[in-house]
Amino acid sequence: HHIVEVKNLRHVYPDGTAALDDVSFRITHGESVAIIGANGAGKSTLLLHLNGYLTPTAGEIRIGDFPMSKATLPNIRRTVGMIFQDPDDQLFMPTVYDDVAFGPMNIGLPAAEVDARVKCALEHVGALHLQEKAPHHLSGGEKKRVAIATVLSMSPDILVMDEPTSGLDPFSRRQLMELLRDFHHTKIFTSHDLDMVICLCERTIILNEGKVQADGPTLEIFQND
Ligand code: ADP
Ligand code: ADP
Repeated sequence: HHIVEVKNLRHVYPDGTAALDDVSFRITHGESVAIIGANGAGKSTLLLHLNGYLTPTAGEIRIGDFPMSKATLPNIRRTVGMIFQDPDDQLFMPTVYDDVAFGPMNIGLPAAEVDARVKCALEHVGALHLQEKAPHHLSGGEKKRVAIATVLSMSPDILVMDEPTSGLDPFSRRQLMELLRDFHHTKIFTSHDLDMVICLCERTIILNEGKVQADGPTLEIFQND
């Protein structure tokens, strides 16, 4: 049974740019998948579709048991945790604690459960000691880990990340890779960091000008490239 199904997805932006053209793939529960390709290949557009931020021009998307639609969007947003390239797009509360608590509070969980989830998520990313800090005072690597905690506190089945290691120093990058390796649910990343892709993703999909150019085991994909 597939946790993600993308079928004949096409996306044309209002200015006429065809960013995705007949993209199809399926992802099994627990798979770790890299989406790579040149700038402008359609990677970010594809990620935005996985969380319902864009509406397909044509084609269908299913996440778990939910076909994507306006009605299923709340379920889909709880299943798919999206981490943007720039953590500043995701951190907007006065403290780290508030940011990580925002999602669980928003879905109406009781205060004790919210608190437990915040502590657990921050602990998981090694950022419990930062909980009283203002997000904008954190380093790049810290911000990235806190952004991940804001998503983990919602217990997503799927983690979707745009360029997770971009802009990180080598130490923070390594820390992040270890953290992601320990997340055993489904992972979908875009990345230009091929070492990370080889290390973390068993499968790679290459996008080229909005189309799937290759899709298979990462090591085979890189051997044929
Ligand atoms: P990637 O993430 O692989 O760099 P994108 O998904 O950002 O690719 O972009 C795919 C194509 O769609 C590019 O040609 C890009 O210029 C175009 N594009 C992206 N966003 C928009 C937008 N909001 N309006 C019009 N064209 C866009
Ligand atoms: P808006 O009201 O913003 O113009 P819609 O009412 O078309 O947009 O859809 C709201 C959200 O639901 C969109 O952001 C889109 O991601 C999602 N959505 C709606 N219809 C579909 C569909 N057929 N396939 C995928 N996603 C959809």
